[in-house]
Amino acid sequence: MQRLEAICFDLDDTLIDASGAWLAGLAEALTEAIERYPVLATFEDLAAIQQQMVYEQFIAAGGEWDPQHVRTSMRRLLREHAEADDALADRAFEAYTDAWPRHLALFPDTLEALDAARRHARLALITNGTSAEQRLKLETLGLLDHFDVVAISEEVGAIKPHGAIFEHTLTGLGVRASEALHIGDNQHADVHGARTAGLTAVWLNRHATAGHEAVNPHHEVTDLHGLVRLLRG
Ligand SMILES: [Mg+2]
Repeated sequence: MQRLEAICFDLDDTLIDASGAWLAGLAEALTEAIERYPVLATFEDLAAIQQQMVYEQFIAAGGEWDPQHVRTSMRRLLREHAEADDALADRAFEAYTDAWPRHLALFPDTLEALDAARRHARLALITNGTSAEQRLKLETLGLLDHFDVVAISEEVGAIKPHGAIFEHTLTGLGVRASEALHIGDNQHADVHGARTAGLTAVWLNRHATAGHEAVNPHHEVTDLHGLVRLLRG
């Protein structure tokens, strides 16, 4: 690796357990529907179906996140699996919106990795999402002070994997792409995006997922301790 001047982090499922918070929020949100209606599917099945519905809307929207995807999915889910009306689905959506932030948590290796990275380079956050939701997460978990640059797709006007959000971040940091590393869990948004933009791309593969053939991370680690070891060389 050329001398490293900057290290960029993805947020969701890299520094914070966003999926865990969404799932815990969904469990709270679906309690009323499961109690009141004869729902045949297990919570795990409902959660998988709902997440697939949200994912399809997210892809249809060109990878742009909108919290209203969750409302739409909740209506469809409860119509198709519980014969519940939209009023109940909307209450579930409100309950979800209220619940998931309470379940936000850092991964156990996050703070140590941020501190170690700070000793090597300037730090940035590059995250896809709305300003409101991503800033809520950063403030709730006290992460804002760790970064020299915070790039949130809605604020920047570009979403990973597009090069513009990486370029925006590098300009803010005052470094060249060849002097920067980006780490994230998403092979398309983080690894493909960073690599194409000329950064060193590190894939954080916490769940031992099979890698896509077309995506070639420069390095792969299974947790953030792996990043710390990589920085030590
Ligand atoms: Mg992520």
